[in-house]
Amino acid sequence: MKILHTIQDARRFVWNLRSGGQSVGLVPTMGALHAGHLSLVEQGRKSCDAVVTTIFVNPTQFAANEDLDKYPRTIERDIELLSAAGCDAVFIPDVSEMYPDGSSTFVKAPDVGKPLEGEFRPTHFDGVATVVLKLFQILPTSHAFFGQKDYQQLRVIETMVRDLNVPIEIMPCPIVRESDGLAMSSRNRYLSDSERQRALCLSRALAGVQTAFQNGQRDVAKLTEILHAPLADTPDSQGVDRVDYAVIVDCENLQPIDTISASAVALLATHVGTTRLIDNCVLRCE
Ligand code: AMP
Repeated sequence: MKILHTIQDARRFVWNLRSGGQSVGLVPTMGALHAGHLSLVEQGRKSCDAVVTTIFVNPTQFAANEDLDKYPRTIERDIELLSAAGCDAVFIPDVSEMYPDGSSTFVKAPDVGKPLEGEFRPTHFDGVATVVLKLFQILPTSHAFFGQKDYQQLRVIETMVRDLNVPIEIMPCPIVRESDGLAMSSRNRYLSDSERQRALCLSRALAGVQTAFQNGQRDVAKLTEILHAPLADTPDSQGVDRVDYAVIVDCENLQPIDTISASAVALLATHVGTTRLIDNCVLRCE
């Protein structure tokens, strides 16, 4: 596996493959890799001739009060995992390579980024859209793989690619979970044992909604009650410390709906201790 640090080397690597007629898949990450990330690499290998992963903890998507400085960095292990997963190259730029002095052009994320995460993290999706568009320019791949774990992020990127005519096919990939249901996340390592136990209420809440939906419930108010119940922090329950949002919304524009006629998405953002956890599930009528 090639390890690339400069934009020039990264671009040349992708261009050599593409000019030889090969399809190339891009897997953007912030590192601290787990099986969720590796599932994107695996999907990339199935769909494309070659796969390039990027590892970059992007400062422009973190607000001043967020965890940029303490975000886990496990670069040597990440390289081993990617190599074992059959990734062809990894691009690991410095912050100064991505944002040299004087860098002042930013992407304004589309409207689908405004509700939910956009309300709690107002500058987040502008930072995500900016770095992802930069990666698309640096690594002009044919496909790019994103996890549905970050559902709203996926919708932001799909919309940006459509609006700005970016010639890259976005490939959504399913959420990978631990055997007990916890959605894999680089931030799970912040959780103490008891917090991790409480964090299971997110996937329990989504499973409850999924079951009610499968049993025919289409009323969003009723489904939302089912979504909230396991999150409640009562003395005898194992809920979360704070709910930023727990909603069921239109799965395209993420706007509120009253009933589910075709499909919707249940989206959760909560705090367990000092760790912010997100999870979701898509509800689709057969
Ligand atoms: P991150 O390193 O958190 O920025 O994530 C990089 C990519 O991996 C994003 O497309 C995420 O949606 C995806 N990802 C993270 N966790 C998971 C997971 N548990 N299952 C599937 N994809 C994931």
